[in-house]
Amino acid sequence: MTAGPAVLDTPSRRRAGAGLRGIATVDAQEVDRSARLAQMRSGELGSVHSWELVTAVDGPGTRLTVFLSGCPLRCLYCHNPDTLAMKDGEPVLAEDLLARVARYRRVFAATGGGLTLSGGEVLMQPAFAARVLRGAKRLGVHTTLDTSGFLGANATDAMLDDTDLVLLDIKAGDEETYRRVTGRSLAPTLRFGRRLAERQVKVWVRFVLVPGLTDDPANVAAVASHAARIEAVRPGTVERVEVLPFHQMARDKWAELGRTYELGDTPPPTPAATEAVRDVFRAHGLTTY
Ligand code: SF4
Repeated sequence: MTAGPAVLDTPSRRRAGAGLRGIATVDAQEVDRSARLAQMRSGELGSVHSWELVTAVDGPGTRLTVFLSGCPLRCLYCHNPDTLAMKDGEPVLAEDLLARVARYRRVFAATGGGLTLSGGEVLMQPAFAARVLRGAKRLGVHTTLDTSGFLGANATDAMLDDTDLVLLDIKAGDEETYRRVTGRSLAPTLRFGRRLAERQVKVWVRFVLVPGLTDDPANVAAVASHAARIEAVRPGTVERVEVLPFHQMARDKWAELGRTYELGDTPPPTPAATEAVRDVFRAHGLTTY
């Protein structure tokens, strides 16, 4: 099992970091477009929004969380709308990112932490992610992938072999609600969850509780059933479920980007409502925070 409740500060939905300080970026002017695309295809180069050093969120211990740019979903509550377009990220070489990972090896070892790839959607850039995960494993660093699972088919088996933990966002329990929340289909996420269990990759299921959007009891029950089914494929897979109360911290970002934010009047769920939803997951025998 991973770290117990004592270290837990149940994260509200994570916001991307402030920038790329300390990680070299490639001067786009210096490399012509076709060379850059070839480097991206091979995974040498990625489009990265920012990174942060965090503790007790994004996986166990102290983590270097790297936010990749680009996402195929359009969640109404997206907390990182500035990561949605891959073209808005900064070009970063995998080897430069890994040099930063290497610098924190001692911190990771002391805290049981490691590297977390987040976004945006990491699996928009599978070759880059695979290269970084491989490099991190070579350094002996614990690896975590934070994903919606919608592009799970992009993850090769080799990539999953280099992934110790997946933070799997199940954003809704049925196709209709999932489409309303994200604009896309739920089925790929569920397929990916089963595959993770079959390949013995540990999973933390995440569910964002949004009043009036995802808090319908039937929807909550369906998400809990999906999580329980992943666990049933291989008991011990779902190490925990995190029910994350919706917050308004991203509202300003949406405004800055000139995008219409539909949840401007949505309140956070009450602590009692959040706890009641956690109990639904617990009723399936799932460790839930
Ligand atoms: S999966 Fe949803 S919440 Fe996450 S970055 Fe994409 S649009 Fe935003």
